[in-house]
Amino acid sequence: MRKRSLRDLSDAELRGRRALVRVDYNVPLGPDGSVQDASRVAATLPTLRHLVEKGARPVLLSHLGRPKGAPDPRYSLAPVGRVLAELLGTAVDFVGPADSETAEEASRRLPDGSVLLLENTRFLPGETKNDESLSSRFARLGELFVNDAFGTTHRAHASVVGVTRFLRPAVAGFLVEVELRALGALRVEVERPFVVAFGGAKISDKIELLEAFARRADAVLIGGAMANTFLAAGGAGMGASLVEDGALEAASGLAARWKGKLRLPTDFVVGDPSNAGVAAGVVSAGGVPPDLAALDIGPATREAYSEVVNGARTVFWNGPMGLFEREEFAGGTRAFARAVADATARGAFTVIGGGDSASAIHQAGLTEAVSHVSTGGGASLEYLARGRLPGVEALDEA
Ligand code: ADP
Ligand code: MG
Repeated sequence: MRKRSLRDLSDAELRGRRALVRVDYNVPLGPDGSVQDASRVAATLPTLRHLVEKGARPVLLSHLGRPKGAPDPRYSLAPVGRVLAELLGTAVDFVGPADSETAEEASRRLPDGSVLLLENTRFLPGETKNDESLSSRFARLGELFVNDAFGTTHRAHASVVGVTRFLRPAVAGFLVEVELRALGALRVEVERPFVVAFGGAKISDKIELLEAFARRADAVLIGGAMANTFLAAGGAGMGASLVEDGALEAASGLAARWKGKLRLPTDFVVGDPSNAGVAAGVVSAGGVPPDLAALDIGPATREAYSEVVNGARTVFWNGPMGLFEREEFAGGTRAFARAVADATARGAFTVIGGGDSASAIHQAGLTEAVSHVSTGGGASLEYLARGRLPGVEALDEA
């Protein structure tokens, strides 16, 4: 069932209309409040440019961080508005609170070619409760609604879902469309071999996804701290490594069910967890010393995993292979990213999902070298596992 997209709206439906656009500008901020990574802002430019070109007036809603339903200057969207103005090359008015008379007036007075950004929706207590009166208030900010907040489409919040009860047409923006197309392609028949790789911190977050992908994939490569839990479940001593004790049983179950497909690391780069940042060397998977932690996949594992990826026609990867935030333990993730890029160059369809995985691929400078890097962390995983997102379900049918 296809959803109506911005592309489906005629020029007459856009000209002169206020388009209320939900974006996801939940960007990382530095200690001085500056925007550290503007890729989520840049990802919405095609939608905003289209609206401005067609003579519509974009009015933007977003959240930032997790303020507790009350104004908190640390999470103001004002700095993001300045970055947006720079990227878009037009004036961006900034007004708050998003549910005020002032905001509505500003939306009605918005000059041609300008964009209005409203203050953080999570400063309002009704936002995360999908509150009806706040939703109807938001609906007064436009004559049509565009959801381009892919990273937030798994949340039934007032500015994502509730607002669509009061404002139609309600359509998908270009970013949401691109994401659904790329992730949707992994949910149907894919070209084989289909290789999936999981790393990151926890199994418990991802059991549903692991199960769903293990069923369909030809090979499942496990790395990151997730691998520690699988190895510990199999009886290996993991020393001071991060092991998720509450997920040992789930790991055993997965390992038993998918024995033929599941691959675990054979070696690790270890380090002293009380002295993080210092790599103490490489050990075999069964030989992590009691006082050291497995913090990255080792060279033999990198080579073996790269070989599997190199033979793949379709790849999905979620979760860094090690503690990639520290240079000493970033090598495994970088080598794996390189292998995925090489497979892409050979014609494979490759998708990377997950917040930290996306930063890792940016950090490796390989974003353009893979088929798709999802801007949604939880949203992409939820869509892949369940095939539905509340914020998408709420939009008009095509
Ligand atoms: P994503 O956001 O891509 O879904 P996760 O949030 O599940 O990924 O996991 C990312 C985190 O896992 C990173 O902070 C990374 O440092 C951490 N991590 C990966 N491997 C290890 C390890 N061996 N030990 C400790 N932390 C790890
Ligand atoms: Mg994460």
